[in-house]
Amino acid sequence: MHEAGLAAYACDPAQSRGRRYWEEPAPTRTPFQRDRDRIVHSTAFRRLVYKTQVFLNHEGDLFRTRLTHSIEVAQLGRSIARSLSLNEDLVEAICLAHDLGHTPFGHAGQDALHACMAEFGGFEHNLQSLRVVDWLERRYPQFDGLNLCFETREGILKHCSQANARALEAQEPGGVGARFLLRQQPSLEAQLCNLADEIAYNAHDIDDGVRSGLISMEQLQSIPLFESHRLQALAEHPALARLESQRRLLYEAIRRMLSAQVYDVIEATRHALQTHGPKHVNEVRAMPVLVRFSEEMHGQSLALKRFLFANLYRHPQVVETTNSARQVVRDLFASYMQQPQAMKPIFAQRWDEAVAPSDRARVVADFIAGMTDRYAVKEHERLTGQRLLG
Ligand code: MG
Repeated sequence: MHEAGLAAYACDPAQSRGRRYWEEPAPTRTPFQRDRDRIVHSTAFRRLVYKTQVFLNHEGDLFRTRLTHSIEVAQLGRSIARSLSLNEDLVEAICLAHDLGHTPFGHAGQDALHACMAEFGGFEHNLQSLRVVDWLERRYPQFDGLNLCFETREGILKHCSQANARALEAQEPGGVGARFLLRQQPSLEAQLCNLADEIAYNAHDIDDGVRSGLISMEQLQSIPLFESHRLQALAEHPALARLESQRRLLYEAIRRMLSAQVYDVIEATRHALQTHGPKHVNEVRAMPVLVRFSEEMHGQSLALKRFLFANLYRHPQVVETTNSARQVVRDLFASYMQQPQAMKPIFAQRWDEAVAPSDRARVVADFIAGMTDRYAVKEHERLTGQRLLG
């Protein structure tokens, strides 16, 4: 029996591939609702509020953090899921958890940690998100991690190298690593979270970029996706042209742009579902990616991404702070490798129990990856006597 309102191709909680450790079903919640609740109550989720999305946490109170980003992704994901009769609870769980493995300081922190870990197997934030929910959260008496369902874990592991997929496959045959080896897709719910992530950051990075003064409305006029909606908004509300209404105009253009992308995904995905006709999530896994933009929207979204990359993520002011952030991560890594006892006791103990150098380095990477921006800055100051940020 499929859950009411769900399409045949959706993930049905009653047919979940289950948890790693068997648990009595909850009396009032489906397994995916329960996963969502576990994620919201986790320590890693609360830390997202002090983790950088693009702007470092101390740079302003109104910029997106990883937490508000994750909530926006979940909102877009749920809204699209409902229109496609996908499982909203599963989408929400995956969206809220998708960035749990992010280091402090956004991509700069992740790149620096990856470089530090080069000889020890590297660092991937998607795999780290899985480590958080599978292992690093310690709050249940019977198991480490949150013991989430296969479908939630599958969605959290968005990318994975072949080497890491083989390692996962060895630990858990036919588990979440298998699809990377078989070159298969995840569920439609997981595919949707990837696209919702993209739609969310493209929109909110424009907002934060303009708010910070690093990109201007004039520059944005070269981006067709933004400009067409800005012009439409002006045509319908000429008063928005006034100088004091520029912020409203920006919000209205972004709002329209968001809606256009959401409707585009719904339509293009409906079309793909009709063409391929999956009757079950297992058929979805063997098909191409079905949750998608139309060709045209894909091109427009790519142009916006390239613009943000060149003008915001690579802006000299952003690069300057991210260089300091990289330094903080590198110094922390070097310090803990030399003095593991300087880590929190639980990590120091794990270091003592580890034997292989790569296992010891992984303990340090886990500790650093879990830090919030401000905790990392404080730790850096404590260990080096230098204050680099904030
Ligand atoms: Mg994200």
